[in-house]
Amino acid sequence: MRMYDLILKKREGNMLSQDEITFMIQNYTAGLIPDYQMSAMMMAVYFNGMTEEETLNLTMAMANSGETLDLSEIEGIKVDKHSTGGVGDKTSLSLTPVVAACGLKVAKMSGRGLGHTGGTIDKLESFTGFSTDISIEQFISNVNHHGIAIMGQTKELAPADKKLYALRDVTATVDQMSLIASSIMSKKLAAGADAIVLDVKTGSGAFMKKQDDAVALAKEMVRIGNGAGRKTIAVISNMDQPLGNAVGNALEVKEAIATLKGEGPDDFTQLIYELGAQNLIPSKY
Ligand code: URA
Repeated sequence: MRMYDLILKKREGNMLSQDEITFMIQNYTAGLIPDYQMSAMMMAVYFNGMTEEETLNLTMAMANSGETLDLSEIEGIKVDKHSTGGVGDKTSLSLTPVVAACGLKVAKMSGRGLGHTGGTIDKLESFTGFSTDISIEQFISNVNHHGIAIMGQTKELAPADKKLYALRDVTATVDQMSLIASSIMSKKLAAGADAIVLDVKTGSGAFMKKQDDAVALAKEMVRIGNGAGRKTIAVISNMDQPLGNAVGNALEVKEAIATLKGEGPDDFTQLIYELGAQNLIPSKY
């Protein structure tokens, strides 16, 4: 198989097979396909799109490009959540303890910020001495003992996505629906949870400015998650203005704690209720 032929096939608007997608991702991760060929492929995908089958195959190939977490040592239903993010989005900090208190096991790998907003790990690290850099063994043990653990995403998790995202970022190919959906879901699938709740933001401060685009992205990710055998559900929420009142890592942690005490701003509290309820539903299936 040659990358040249795969680029030509996609350029002409044809569908790539599972073997072709796996070949492309494995060899790109291994450094055997150069960035210039992968850039051409990303642009061909940008203009011609991918079918649902191709998108699922791309996601699985990226999820399997590195380490996949085996959470079988944790008893019970393991849940995860993902937000497409925005200013003031401190949802994981309040949502995950609520869900754990209801008896689900929260085993969450989180990332750092993309662009101008901090990620969950950046926020947690505003506590002096707080470490999210723990071993997988410690992570699993924390979930078993406390019902909840959040750790930083390891370098070995979905390395194909890491490389591809960096390439898309400099080749104007980030904002393509199948590529976004497969990028997000490859990390979620590799992180091993049984049930995933997605919070897809829409509005002027979100990745998806238009509600229709947010709905399409949500549907694509739900299809991928369920297609990969994980109970997946999505909520569309507004990001026309910052979430809650606090913006900035340490301030957001304070607001998340206040919300857990029932003293949070209305918009943020409502979102926690909604996502919490949705997180609990798939576990009943
Ligand atoms: N977040 C991701 O992880 N990947 C994308 O492609 C876009 C947002």
